[in-house]
Amino acid sequence: MNADTFTNVALEAGRLAAGICRRVQQEQVVETQEKAGREPVTVADYASQAVILRALSLHCGDHAILAEENSENLRAGDDAHVADRVRDLVADALGEPVTMEQLCAWIDHQGDPASPYMWAIDPIDGTKGFLRKAQYAVAIGLLRERVPVAGALVCPNLAVDPNDEGGARGVVFHAYEQAGAFQFPLDGGDTAPIRANATTDAADVRVLGSVESSHGDPKLLTALVEELGFGGGIVRVDSQVKYGVLARGDAEVYLRPRSKPDWRDNAWDHVAGVAVAKEAGGRSTDVVGRPLDFSFGAKMEENVGVLTTHGPLHDEIVACLKRLVEG
Ligand code: AMP
Ligand code: MG
Repeated sequence: MNADTFTNVALEAGRLAAGICRRVQQEQVVETQEKAGREPVTVADYASQAVILRALSLHCGDHAILAEENSENLRAGDDAHVADRVRDLVADALGEPVTMEQLCAWIDHQGDPASPYMWAIDPIDGTKGFLRKAQYAVAIGLLRERVPVAGALVCPNLAVDPNDEGGARGVVFHAYEQAGAFQFPLDGGDTAPIRANATTDAADVRVLGSVESSHGDPKLLTALVEELGFGGGIVRVDSQVKYGVLARGDAEVYLRPRSKPDWRDNAWDHVAGVAVAKEAGGRSTDVVGRPLDFSFGAKMEENVGVLTTHGPLHDEIVACLKRLVEG
């Protein structure tokens, strides 16, 4: 695996997935099921995962896969029209007929669990944002020996120019270890390197958090901002778009505290974003300063939330959070 192979495979798959997401998002009624934990899953989540894992099975078939969705509810037959719709979306995106067997096999593709390479895929990160027609991301991350080494974040609704919210939307972020982090407009345009901000002035610091208050601990964000005198405000954005915003210098801190004591973060919610932020100069630990540990598979069992910052104030922020969390 190298930067070129990663970028080719991830961006080709990510573009197909984003096309499906955009098409479904424009529909009046987005067909949705409810997963355990009351999280929504739409026809676009399944179709996006199918095209991404199909590409990985073709180009990186001997790598391991960790992905958010599975085909269980599609196979169950309760919602046959949902399964048919997913199959049609995938067939249209690929421009070829697709059988239900192929569809389910792609969605469930697991590769070789013994491989040192493991892809962490969130076919639609921020499904609630997607349903609100707000921000969401197709997240394609890569671990080597359980360490994030590369990521692609396709963000179909993010403003290309942060100062022109009414302008073109759709941004792709990608990074590979020691090759740098980049962005380009999803609908065409030049690729440019990105860099996290370097400010050390608390008055400038902007803190990113979830829109969904149940996904975090909004009080802890407010307490951090007050304690350290961060003057840039709290910026609420859905999904791993937050990592892209930080990596291109439009915010300095992404704080994702545990939403409740027994909550454990999902690896696919962070691998791609952490890789992009790191290559842009950022730092990631958990909220109490421990290294992120992706060795448990889907859940980050040993971490207390996730903290990513632009770098220079990381230790100070961790010290403050430890005081706030541990008392
Ligand atoms: P965000 O867009 O920041 O709200 O994060 C979206 C992610 O939050 C989803 O992909 C889910 O994996 C995750 N999530 C779902 N339920 C919870 C919860 N109760 N606490 C924390 N995160 C959650
Ligand atoms: Mg997610």
